[in-house]
Amino acid sequence: MGELLEAAQERMTRAAEMVGLDKEVVSHLLNPIETLSASVNIRRDDGSALALKGWRCRYNSALGPTKGGIRFHPSVHLDEVETLAFLMTMKCALMGLPFGGGKGGVEVDAHDLSTMEKERVARGYVRAMAKILGPDRDVPAPDVATGEREMAWMVSEYSEIAGSIQPHAFTGKPVSLGGMPGRTPATGRGAHIALEEMRDLAGLGEDGGLTIALQGFGNAGLWFARAAADAGHTIVAVTDSSGTVSDPDGLDIEALVQVKEEKGKVTAYDGGDAQSSDDPEEVLATECDVLVFAALGGVIADAEDAKALQCKAIVELANRPVLPAADKALQDVGVEVVPDILANGGGVTISHAEWVQGRQGIDWNSDDVDDYLEDTIAQASENVREVMQECDTDMRTAAYAVALRRLCAAISAHGTRA
Ligand code: GLU
Repeated sequence: MGELLEAAQERMTRAAEMVGLDKEVVSHLLNPIETLSASVNIRRDDGSALALKGWRCRYNSALGPTKGGIRFHPSVHLDEVETLAFLMTMKCALMGLPFGGGKGGVEVDAHDLSTMEKERVARGYVRAMAKILGPDRDVPAPDVATGEREMAWMVSEYSEIAGSIQPHAFTGKPVSLGGMPGRTPATGRGAHIALEEMRDLAGLGEDGGLTIALQGFGNAGLWFARAAADAGHTIVAVTDSSGTVSDPDGLDIEALVQVKEEKGKVTAYDGGDAQSSDDPEEVLATECDVLVFAALGGVIADAEDAKALQCKAIVELANRPVLPAADKALQDVGVEVVPDILANGGGVTISHAEWVQGRQGIDWNSDDVDDYLEDTIAQASENVREVMQECDTDMRTAAYAVALRRLCAAISAHGTRA
């Protein structure tokens, strides 16, 4: 088993022991059901051949078809894909969805590809993985460096292979292909709802404006920033790969979105008394109430990283920004973490609505989508709150315990199959 997966499972074991779950039942969650490693072969625009490594992991299906995104990133590897699929298993269970967990990835830098090359990678990936995909088996969605456009290519390729139109085989599609209005903002908005729900337990008081610093200004980061600024919080710093832009009086988020769109980097923002630096790491030492991680995993890797933080609480909008090796140090310095499986569960929640819409063949209206997001995150938060109080534990361990209770009930009910 890979190191990352092993480390992630320590959190599971701790939570399972805390709520007294049967070890044999929990052992069903130690290994993925199946992981397909395959070569994704395409032709580049200049006619040369490009062979890329790709993976799709179906981690556990006790609660339903496996569900999770596909990322295109040069650092993707087997252990990471399986760890992220394990996290999706916990996330879908915590959110109360009828889905198991899965994840996929291609080891590629999407910035190095033309649009046509990206389309060939997306379609090539589906051809390579088709035998384990399907609307009742494994349902992919966007993740790092993939979005509506990639899902459109993928669902079209999959329908071609299946010989029938399968809109609910993928989620995160454009609205023109059966996508859900509100899926794109859902991850960021959901994280804001989770923050409001859990702020008292994160030591941030019950109300009043918070100062927030944000690492990452992609889709999830920008929709979180919009939701938080609309609710009256002050976004004091934002980073992307170009560096950090900060203003203790607050950044104008709509102006920042426009700058990012036009110039491709947040450091081009020059509103108010904003300061720019070309160091993206600077955000980690920003004095603020809440530090939101909205980029990649592994940012707070150990005790040293944890001790350098100047925030009161962390929101894990990305998957696994805080590694297990830093958990204890964060508790020692009193920084509470709103964990990824709760904070970014809004994305897969609206994916569920999209999957249901595809099966039903009837469009949901946007008020129903917004209510579904609010209600699902509020219910998951309430469940976490109860376990925190019942077991006097941190938010992540409580979130794992809620997920594991549901998973273990389903695994036991399945008998030996699970
Ligand atoms: N990639 C997203 C996540 O990590 C969304 C998954 C989905 O919608 O299936 O939660």
